[in-house]
Amino acid sequence: MSGRHGAGRVTLVGGGPGSEELMTVGGVRALADADVVLYDRLAPHTLLPRLSPGALLIDVGKKPGHHPISQHGIELLMIDHARSGAHVVRLKGGDPYVLGRGGEEVLACRAAGIPVTVLSGVTSAIAVPAAAGIPLTHRGVSHMFTVVSGHDPLSDDELRHLVGLGGTIVVLMGVSTLPQLVAGLRRHGMTATIPIAIIERGHSDEQKTTISDIDGIVDAAALAGVGAPAVLVIGEVVRLAHDGNDEADRILRRAESLTEI
Ligand code: SAH
Repeated sequence: MSGRHGAGRVTLVGGGPGSEELMTVGGVRALADADVVLYDRLAPHTLLPRLSPGALLIDVGKKPGHHPISQHGIELLMIDHARSGAHVVRLKGGDPYVLGRGGEEVLACRAAGIPVTVLSGVTSAIAVPAAAGIPLTHRGVSHMFTVVSGHDPLSDDELRHLVGLGGTIVVLMGVSTLPQLVAGLRRHGMTATIPIAIIERGHSDEQKTTISDIDGIVDAAALAGVGAPAVLVIGEVVRLAHDGNDEADRILRRAESLTEI
């Protein structure tokens, strides 16, 4: 890289859940200034030829189960390009610091003596439920939410505490561990009728929402052929979804007779 900007540096940009509308002004500016962009599969990368004209665009995306470039490899690439004088933008899906390994990439830059800044993004944990009409908090329904990774099954202690909190639970990377999650929540006392929504590919043309209750969701997900990427929302707030399918309407009707919301 020629190094248009003298000394190299890295900007970690949270690209939001995939739609241009949900990118930050700072993120768009950083992309316009980039010499090199390293982007993830879930980042809004189709926009890059327009947002970063002239930059070298490198796909470091990881599909579930496939790792074309390791995390360490990504960090080395980022540092190498910055060392040669480039402004490297590391474009990540959602927010870099929400289950995004942004912290590791910042530490790697610091260890290499490369200046690094982080631009927060709109996390899918909030924006994907919103795209399905689900607010994570709602007066009188839930005044908290917990965001957890479903990458690995939760421990019994974690499940017990989650059920005990009684607030909204948001799970990222949770499609493959869904059966263990719902069985675990039930085992620790979660009511069978608590609604759960799975929102796939939020903010895209293929967005799809599957809604059921805790006891029915594994069958409903299998029937709907649910796959990653998806955000799971567990809690009464799911009843507030206003663009639901038949199952959602049934749950909403039942909720109206049970709860005053
Ligand atoms: N840092 C990211 C999360 C990275 S983990 C953020 O703040 O959003 C990747 C997980 O995010 C996916 O497995 C999925 O659970 C969720 N995700 C990201 N974008 C999504 C989208 N457009 N639709 C549905 N889920 C999405």
